Amino acid sequence: MQIRVLFLLLAFLLSHITYGQLLKPCNTLKSVHNEWVTRFQKRLPIDNPLRGSLTLYFPVKFFITSKLHDQSGTISPQKLMEEICHLNQLYKQANISFYLESQPTIISSSSYEGVETEFELGQLLQSYKTTNAIPVYIVENALDACGFNVIFQGINKGIVLSAECYKAKGALLAHEIGHFLGLPHTFQGWEGIAFDYTLKAPEHWENVKVERADGSNCRIAGDGFCDTAPDYLNLRWSCSDSSKSPISLVDPMGKSFFSDGSLIMGYALDPCPNRFSKEQIMTMRAYAEEFYPTLFKGDLPAKINHAMPVVNTPLENSQVNLSNGVNFSWEKVPGTYKYIIEVSPMPNMALITARYEISSDSLSFITKQLINGRKYFWRLRSLNLFSFCSTVSKICSFSTVLATANTDLKDKTYSIILNNPISTSEGMSLNLADEQFPLQLILLNNSGQTIFHKNYSQYVGHTNLSISVSAFPPGQYTLTVRNAQKTQSHSVVIMP
Ligand SMILES: [Zn+2]
Repeated sequence: MQIRVLFLLLAFLLSHITYGQLLKPCNTLKSVHNEWVTRFQKRLPIDNPLRGSLTLYFPVKFFITSKLHDQSGTISPQKLMEEICHLNQLYKQANISFYLESQPTIISSSSYEGVETEFELGQLLQSYKTTNAIPVYIVENALDACGFNVIFQGINKGIVLSAECYKAKGALLAHEIGHFLGLPHTFQGWEGIAFDYTLKAPEHWENVKVERADGSNCRIAGDGFCDTAPDYLNLRWSCSDSSKSPISLVDPMGKSFFSDGSLIMGYALDPCPNRFSKEQIMTMRAYAEEFYPTLFKGDLPAKINHAMPVVNTPLENSQVNLSNGVNFSWEKVPGTYKYIIEVSPMPNMALITARYEISSDSLSFITKQLINGRKYFWRLRSLNLFSFCSTVSKICSFSTVLATANTDLKDKTYSIILNNPISTSEGMSLNLADEQFPLQLILLNNSGQTIFHKNYSQYVGHTNLSISVSAFPPGQYTLTVRNAQKTQSHSVVIMP
């Protein structure tokens, strides 16, 4: 039995080491309005826990230090989208939803250096432009903690997260927002206390009563909630399959129990924490209505949507003439503040070899910076203020060719097709000056059907030949030019 306890304590320690390189999980000790929370809890349980089905929409504003922002991939826009998607999934049970107030602001890393206390940090946060949103700061090191809700002069100044912990997918942000909305830790009173958990717990720590396993003092002890199990574990721990703590704890009456690792306001390691209790949810919603009514009033929830980007060109499996550049184009995604094109030589996009950031007012981008004769895969991301879970397009592919690489055109240094892709309004422009007549032009669609066929019996001179394509739907086509000497085929794309 002693060996088992030792093993489990060792497991505790290992968990602690692998998470955030010994950063403390959380520096938050209590909420700003702790007395209000205590008074509210005395009124629990309250019927109608969600006060109707009204969804509370909270704007969140991210600030990222310049050093982190410059480290490619450390704090990627993709991670931000995934983070808020996950946050919204965790808060769905509370009927609370988050969106971005505006795109992240980059703040100076140097201003953060030398900050060693919560007071100094509060002073620094005070200097940033305040927004009507929950401020979340991603910094190199949040005072040696994974995160905390910073209180300065009696006001919530915002949530500060260490980059190392933010990078992992988990409930850290949800936990800190829980604090922002008034929730204490499930192990309230045990913060910062070193304790041998094989021993019986004391009756209280300073002025916080220790919660008993039988629930007899749940309203006035620990976290003050009666639908959260007693919890004394103030260090990171791995939960079992049933979300219970790996060791039993002993309450002041000598009764054994297990802590509940599913609660977001505890310290169980991810992916265990995934829920708030009903009383916690009631408290957060009442707290928000009491102290942050302007945060979630007047927003436009209709903007919250699923916004998977739809891409137009290059068409799937098409051949693209690199001499004209690869033209990426897509449909507008509402709420986008930046589009990201990712290009990869691999179908699963495991290796991104080119990434282009495009402002939200553009719906296309042309590049010649790809290699000829390669197959590429690409997708489009929408960095979106209102949509987070499905903001990436499906993966499409295309191949790069040079028109002059055509085997029948070895002796030529120019393309017979002067514009490719071809816009519907412009029409196809051909240079046939060096071709022998009579010749045939045949245009096949992607299904191999002939949609245009014309014989030219005479030399058409130096003037470029223009062929209207307005009757043809956008897509990939094959143009064949045939005369007595040779036949040449070109892949062409007609754009909307
Ligand atoms: Zn905490």
